[in-house]
Amino acid sequence: DTRTIQGAIQVRNLSFTYPHTGIQALKNVSFDIPQGKTLAIIGRTGSGKSTLANLLLRMYDADAGEIRIDQVPLKEYNFSSLRSQIGIVPQEVFLFSDTIRNNIAFGLDNFTENQVIQAAKDAAVYQNILGFENGFDTSVGERGLTLSGGQKQRVSIARALIKAPKILIFDDCLSAVDTKTEEEILTGLQRNMADKTCIFIAHRVSTIKNADHILVLDQGEIIEQGSHEKL
Ligand code: ATP
Repeated sequence: DTRTIQGAIQVRNLSFTYPHTGIQALKNVSFDIPQGKTLAIIGRTGSGKSTLANLLLRMYDADAGEIRIDQVPLKEYNFSSLRSQIGIVPQEVFLFSDTIRNNIAFGLDNFTENQVIQAAKDAAVYQNILGFENGFDTSVGERGLTLSGGQKQRVSIARALIKAPKILIFDDCLSAVDTKTEEEILTGLQRNMADKTCIFIAHRVSTIKNADHILVLDQGEIIEQGSHEKL
């Protein structure tokens, strides 16, 4: 199925054990994210947050339970169609030894300069790039310019945004930047997130204050959930 994703996510009784280690990373997890809403997932290290992101991207399939997007079971989607419609900003940024432009447009067969610029603006890194001598042609990576942690993070965000995905997952990608940079990034994202379903995986409460709903995971289980005010 290569249908266009709208972005409503339903998770039902999801359990998952990593095949080689036998570690049960998720236990009977259920939640819904309506289309266009933002869910935050917090919890201690090893509580299963990234595993949930892995299952959404079908890096693994659940042992029990089900994930549906727009009421359609995940397994019924064409794999590459699914991947192209879900944007993920991973925990660890990976930059290629290439120009900033190609790092942002990574994985796209064709793209316009305007798309690159817009993604950079939305990720709040446009002004930084303009400040480099060669702008978007600046080489980064091993033999290129060394970007700061926060700049790398934002290039990685721009890479996810340029695909214009209906679902965006931020996997703990802001914990390495200071709170001021975080604020800048979140403000930049605000406009972009309006019609997208977002999942923010986070350690810091400041990252998730705008979330519509918060899940607290512990040892693979949801131990608490609610709004920011309620928790
Ligand atoms: P962190 O905040 O440190 O990123 P997390 O909440 O994202 O942690 P997960 O990465 O989902 O936690 O890990 C959940 C559990 O699954 C942990 O016990 C972890 O050791 C285990 N685990 C994670 N990835 C793998 C893997 N690829 N193979 C085997 N076990 C894994």
